[in-house]
Amino acid sequence: MSVKVLVVEDEPALRETLAYNLVKQGYEVLTASDGYQAIALARQERPALLILDLMLPGVDGFEVCRILRQEMSAPILMLTARADEVDKVVGLEVGADDYMTKPFSMRELMARVRALLRRERLIREEIAAQDDGAVGKPLTFDNLTIDESRHELRKDGQVVPLRPKEYELLHFLARQRGIVVSRDLILERVWGWDFDGGSRTVDVHVRWLREKIEQDPGNPTRIVTVRGIGYRFEG
Ligand code: CA
Repeated sequence: MSVKVLVVEDEPALRETLAYNLVKQGYEVLTASDGYQAIALARQERPALLILDLMLPGVDGFEVCRILRQEMSAPILMLTARADEVDKVVGLEVGADDYMTKPFSMRELMARVRALLRRERLIREEIAAQDDGAVGKPLTFDNLTIDESRHELRKDGQVVPLRPKEYELLHFLARQRGIVVSRDLILERVWGWDFDGGSRTVDVHVRWLREKIEQDPGNPTRIVTVRGIGYRFEG
């Protein structure tokens, strides 16, 4: 089964070039030329990845990204025409998984697409493997023990009081240790599909957790931020 990629780009020539090259690599390609069409197609077809131009007629790429982020965990590669937009693109506001500034090399774009899809697949496989695994075995990282059977965290042998979502977030991150997990995936897995809040909820809970588990919460070494993507638990 081929992997579906949705290309959202209003410039016909670039849209066609992207589609041509993606098809050549074996992807199944869907195209949209404006934001409304992009949202409708993404909802209907559930692509594995989106290549999303920032400046679009109608609903722009920011808004498309924000809306789809709440509904699906497919990685989003943003295309921008201006370097000064990059901070906004990779920042918390929008949360694209990666970006490229125009003009870009097609070869480089294909490499990014492969990397994003590989990362997403690794995370999903890891989750599937963990979900099948034995429940109840405590996870230990130096002075931290996450005890699944008791639903509690111990630091240096002492129980650390956690809010329920803090515990779930910590447990989720610890199980994906060593892997960068997007805010979107965290929201989906810890808060659930129907959760209305945005990715800031994740950031706030990470901050609270850091205050409880890090030696220096301002300089975290256990739950590290991966700029523009999400978090990685170092285990
Ligand atoms: Ca454009």
